[in-house]
Amino acid sequence: MIKLNRTSKPKVLQDNEYTWLCHLKTAIDAYGSYSAIPKDEKSKLTKFYRHDGIKEELFNTSHEKCAFCECKPAEGGNIEVEHFKPKSIHPDFTFEWENLLPCCRKCNGSKLDHDTAIDPIVNPYEMDPKEIFEYSDIRILAKSGANKSIGDKSIEVCGLNSVRLMKPRSEILVNLYFFQDTLQEAIADYYDADTDAKKRNRLRSINEAIEKIEQLTDPREKYSGFCSNFLENCEIYNKAKTLIQDAMAS
Ligand SMILES: [Zn+2]
Repeated sequence: MIKLNRTSKPKVLQDNEYTWLCHLKTAIDAYGSYSAIPKDEKSKLTKFYRHDGIKEELFNTSHEKCAFCECKPAEGGNIEVEHFKPKSIHPDFTFEWENLLPCCRKCNGSKLDHDTAIDPIVNPYEMDPKEIFEYSDIRILAKSGANKSIGDKSIEVCGLNSVRLMKPRSEILVNLYFFQDTLQEAIADYYDADTDAKKRNRLRSINEAIEKIEQLTDPREKYSGFCSNFLENCEIYNKAKTLIQDAMAS
């Protein structure tokens, strides 16, 4: 999970949310409750929240990834428009821009009607997941502190340690470990170099390796939060970064 930034409300929502909600509320009054509205009628009344103009704007804000698990549609099934506060319990929020999140089918299916108003989970548009989560090997964990319970709840509700997410993390981890070993050798070669020209060449190789691996932390890449966390805590990567910075400064 990474921090996401919400853009301003799409025009189609600005123009229609009041009318859409009025129609839905009229049906709720007529049938007595949201759950009592016949399925077909309910679907006709609520479908507007996934209007193309809303969906596209929303998906752009998450770099076309699931807001919770950071998978791309190829892994988690289609990305859907999800209600942070479930519309079945909070129908007033059915067309509320701040309540809509892009979410993969797996996370959506896992979250179901979990009531975030009563038992909150992390909303990556409002909280920075970096402050809440860390990783141990291929598992995501909630950091100790004030937000530990909300972090733990998010992992449980969205299934963030399920096999479907640990498998790709393990594949990425193999690459990250390989990068770490390569970098360690490159740093040793740099210190062994006996001429300035050789040192410059080896620094260039180190820099290229860093630039290549940092691509994995681009927010557009799947599971970029996992990769960022690994690199931030990777001693050899940080050593290599310092080496490059010192060389550029001298
Ligand atoms: Zn997901």
